[in-house]
Amino acid sequence: MGGSAQEACLNANANTVALNARSAAKLLEGVPTDLWIGGRWRAASDGARFDVRDPATEEAIASVASGTVEDCLAAVDAAQAAFGPWAARSPRVRGEVLRRAFELITRDTDRLARIITLENGKSLSDSRGEIAYAAEFFRWNAEEAVRVIGQSSRAPSSGARILVNHKPAGVALLVTPWNFPAAMATRKIGPALAAGCTVVIKPATATPLTMLALMPLLQEAGVPAGVVNLVPSRSSGKVVSAMLSDGRVRVISFTGSTEVGRTLLKEAADNIVRPAMELGGNAPFIVCEDANIDEAIEGAMIAKMRNIGEACTAANRFYVHEAVADEFSRKLAARMGALKMGHGLEDGVTVGPLVNAQTRDKVHELVQDARAKGAKVLTGGEPAKGRGYFYPATVLTAVPGNADLVREEIFGPVAAIQTFHDEEEMLRLANASEYGLASYVYTADLKRGLAIAERLEVGMVGLNRGMVSDPAAPFGGVKQSGLGREGGHEGLFEYLETQYVSVNW
Ligand code: NAP
Ligand code: MG
Repeated sequence: MGGSAQEACLNANANTVALNARSAAKLLEGVPTDLWIGGRWRAASDGARFDVRDPATEEAIASVASGTVEDCLAAVDAAQAAFGPWAARSPRVRGEVLRRAFELITRDTDRLARIITLENGKSLSDSRGEIAYAAEFFRWNAEEAVRVIGQSSRAPSSGARILVNHKPAGVALLVTPWNFPAAMATRKIGPALAAGCTVVIKPATATPLTMLALMPLLQEAGVPAGVVNLVPSRSSGKVVSAMLSDGRVRVISFTGSTEVGRTLLKEAADNIVRPAMELGGNAPFIVCEDANIDEAIEGAMIAKMRNIGEACTAANRFYVHEAVADEFSRKLAARMGALKMGHGLEDGVTVGPLVNAQTRDKVHELVQDARAKGAKVLTGGEPAKGRGYFYPATVLTAVPGNADLVREEIFGPVAAIQTFHDEEEMLRLANASEYGLASYVYTADLKRGLAIAERLEVGMVGLNRGMVSDPAAPFGGVKQSGLGREGGHEGLFEYLETQYVSVNW
C-alpha cells in the first residue's frame, strides 16, 4: 500500500468501531424501520426483518422490516387509491409540496448525510453533496410541474383540430441502488410526483435507512397518504416481479446493474409497462496533449473519487496522450496516495469503505488481473487489513488493453491509465464498450473537444469537467447503459402519457 496517510487511518480504525456503535445508535434514533404503506408504518406481514450494516465496522446498525409480496401489493393498492386525487390536484399545489420537500431536506442536510455515511460508507462530504443533489430534484421538479405544455394544431387535410395533452401515467414502481441512497430515489420521486403519478419505492437492501428517514419529511411537506410508499425487502426479485405483473403498475424506473435491468425489461414486457433504465457504465476519461494538466487532475479526482468510485458515471478507463502521460500519472498518484482513508464520519476522510466485501473483493480481483497482465501500481493496490471493506485509492499505469477492468465496471477507487498516440485510435478504443453512459474529455481546444464529444457513443460528456450530474440536465445512457432520461425537461416525460384529441371544429 502506497500512502502512509492511508495506513495511519486504518490504525485508528479499531477505536472508531466502539465510538461508532454509540454514535450510530444516537444518529438513528427516531428513524423508522418499518414499511411505509398508505401513510402508515407497518411491520412485514410475516414479521421478517433484515440487518443493515455499517461497512466501515461491519456492525449491524439497524433491523428493517422486509416486505413480502402481500405487503408490496398492498403498497400498489395504496398508490392506486391515491392516484386519482393526486393527479387531480393542480400542478401548482403539487409543485409547492415538492418545493417544501426541497426545503425540509435541505434543512436536515447534516442529519441525513450522516445516515448515508453510516449505511453506505462514503465520506460525510460526499454524503452532504448527495443530499444537496437529491434535494435539488424536488426544487427542479417543483418548477417543471407547472410547465407541462401541450399543443394544438390544424390537421393538414381533414379540417379537424389536433389537441395534444400530457396526462400522468399512473402508479410508478421505483427500484434504486445503494450507491446514492437518497439521490437515485429523489431523481425518480420528484418528476413522478410533479407529473401527478404515485409511487412505490423498493430501495436497495444495503441502504434502506436514508429513504426511511426521508418519509416523515415528505409527509411534513404535504405529500398525501399513499402517494409515496416505501417497501424495503430482501426478496427483491420476488416482490418486484409481483408488482410488475400486477397490471396496475404503469411505469418501472430502475437504476442499477445492466444484468438486473435486462431482467426487469423482460418482466415489464408482459404487461407492456413503460421502462426507464439507468444501468451500468464504463466511462472513458480522455486527456489530450494540449489539455491543462492541473485542471485535468482536478477533474479526474472528481470523476474517479466522488463516491469512492462507486458511481455509474465514474471514470473507469483513462486514455492519456503519451506526451503528457507521465506528468498526469505522477500528479494523479500523488493526489490519490495522499487521500485519508477511514470511517466516513471522521474529519478529513475522503476514502470510506466500499459497500460490502463482495464489492471490495471484486475491485481487488480486477487490480490483480491488470497487474498480472503487466500494469504498474503507482499507489495503493492492496486491500486494507482489519475491519471494514476498505480499499485504498489506487493508480495503475501501463494498463494493457486486455485487462478485465478495461471492459468491466471497477466500481471502486482505482484509476487505470492507458496512453494513446493517435486520436482516431483513441476514439475507437473509447467507443469499444458495450456501455455508453458518461465520458470525460480534457483539451484546451473547445472545437476539438466538441468534435470528440460528438463522436463518443455515450449519453453524457464532461468537457473539461469531471462531473456531468445535474438535476437540470437529461441524465442517461445509450447502448447497454439504459433507456430514457432523468432530470432536465425530459425526466418528467418518463411519467406522462401523451393523449391527443381530434376535434371537429
Ligand atoms: P443491482 O444489483 O442491479 O440492484 C439495484 C436494485 O435492484 C436494488 O434495489 C436491488 O435490490 C434490486 N434488485 C436486485 N436484483 C433484482 C431482481 N432480480 N429483480 C428486481 N430487483 C432486483 O445494482 P447494485 O449492485 O445495487 O448497484 C450497482 C450497479 O448499478 C452498477 O452496475 C452501476 O453502474 C449501476 N448504477 C447505475 C446508475 C445509473 O444512473 N445509470 C446509478 C447508480 C448505479 P437488492 O439491494 O435487494 O439487491
Ligand atoms: Mg446486485
